[in-house]
Amino acid sequence: MSRTNDRLLLVDGRLVPGAGGAFETINPATEEVLGTAADASADDMDRAIAAARRAFDETGWATGHAFRARCLRQLREGLRRRADELRELTIKEVGAPRFLTFGAQLDAPVDDLAWFADLVDDYGWERDLGRAEPMGMPSHRRVVREAVGVVGAITPWNFPHQINLAKLGPALAAGNTVVLKPAPDTPWCAAVLGEVIAEETDFPPGVVNVVTSSDHALGAQLTQDPRVDLVSFTGSTATGRNVMASAAGTLKRVFLELGGKSAFVVLDDADLRAACSYAAFAGITHAGQGCAITTRILVPRERHDEAVEITARALAKLGAGDPQDDRTICGPVISARQRERIEGYLEQAVKDGGAFACGGGRPEGRDRGFWIEPTLITGLTNDSRAAREEIFGPVLVILPHDGDDDAVRIANDSPYGLSGAVHGGDVERARGVARRLRTGTVSVNGGVWYGADVPFGGYKQSGIGREMGVAGFEEYLETKAIAEGV
Ligand code: NAD
Repeated sequence: MSRTNDRLLLVDGRLVPGAGGAFETINPATEEVLGTAADASADDMDRAIAAARRAFDETGWATGHAFRARCLRQLREGLRRRADELRELTIKEVGAPRFLTFGAQLDAPVDDLAWFADLVDDYGWERDLGRAEPMGMPSHRRVVREAVGVVGAITPWNFPHQINLAKLGPALAAGNTVVLKPAPDTPWCAAVLGEVIAEETDFPPGVVNVVTSSDHALGAQLTQDPRVDLVSFTGSTATGRNVMASAAGTLKRVFLELGGKSAFVVLDDADLRAACSYAAFAGITHAGQGCAITTRILVPRERHDEAVEITARALAKLGAGDPQDDRTICGPVISARQRERIEGYLEQAVKDGGAFACGGGRPEGRDRGFWIEPTLITGLTNDSRAAREEIFGPVLVILPHDGDDDAVRIANDSPYGLSGAVHGGDVERARGVARRLRTGTVSVNGGVWYGADVPFGGYKQSGIGREMGVAGFEEYLETKAIAEGV
């Protein structure tokens, strides 16, 4: 097993260096160079696509249900065996707070592979529609579900294991072959998947290919190549738009998980202290670098000032800390570029008339690493840039509402529709508000929607399609009707 600080590509079943050399991966908490990842060239990507195509067209992968389930379980076991090493790697490369690696940053998505393996066994691959006589011609009809073909999976850096595995799990369970192109900021999290697949599983060569690269153009290459049947993309809405446009040339299927600007609605019968404290915690977890994080807090106007005080105090207490520390909720942001982007939003918020109830800049005493203090912006309206655009940092905007209808109106007044939360004393009423939110997921009174069996995705400009759950699995299937003359 390669255990050096230089990680490789997985192409056609072999761990190989990149023709483009290697690029560095950096610890965002310290700016320490962790090592290098293989830098794939366009030719490497071409070979990976060819391998995936051949594995799909010329092997029994797509029809060997039991074999596929076994390979997925081997992958899960291989990753579990390396859990300690992966945990440290994830904290270092992603800047993910340690506590999150016991959930969505590592353990949960690895465990969830079992759910997809079980689904291969349990899924109704064929449905008998019985006999009919369309136009007087006796026929026996069946509907068969089968794999789409070669999947190009393009992923971001914020929850790399979750997103890589939420694509690999269902895509492979469905019988597809995959070329995974991870984000340049977190190549190791993907490269270790390649190592485990090559060394600890029976996945046939070409079924999974992992192509790390410093160049976004390799993602674009996947979207344009006619040998790729489906592009499964998670990332920003701006890039998602490019992916969709570029996939149109070959009319491939496109599945998009994009950005969000989700609302945390506090109703007037809620326990304000509990709700606002929870909003603070939820909003700055992993430095706010989660697409479904609730970054607009909507509070009853008459209790606005009190809500600001509670939220600001909670944020200041949580602070930004070393991700190695198991009490840390908010670690660093991923890069200097991302920090600059967030600082641009903070400057803009002030120009738009906003004020900081806490935070608003870099924390004191952290000279190395990419840090932003947990920040609460007051005094803005829902049409300000900080309230409309995805900041992807530990920055929350608090806005007053005038009752349930107004809260729903403000929450839905967004180009995004990914997620949301509602807190209220009367659960029936809170549930009613949740049903009116135009988003793919909603939490009521702290309920957690995340899980292998729960479809996740967005309305409006937050995406197309669903990831995870049976709905997510079916994104990777074609439907074929077969009629036999009888
Ligand atoms: P990004 O859009 O910059 O990049 C995502 C991936 O796309 C990377 O692998 C990148 O190399 C690749 N890419 C860039 N340009 C491309 C192109 N023209 N064609 C094909 N691929 C291209 O996003 P990011 O900065 O890595 O991640 C943060 C964004 O991801 C945020 O907007 C966040 O909301 C979103 N996100 C969404 C979800 C979701 O499920 N809805 C989950 C996590 C993150």
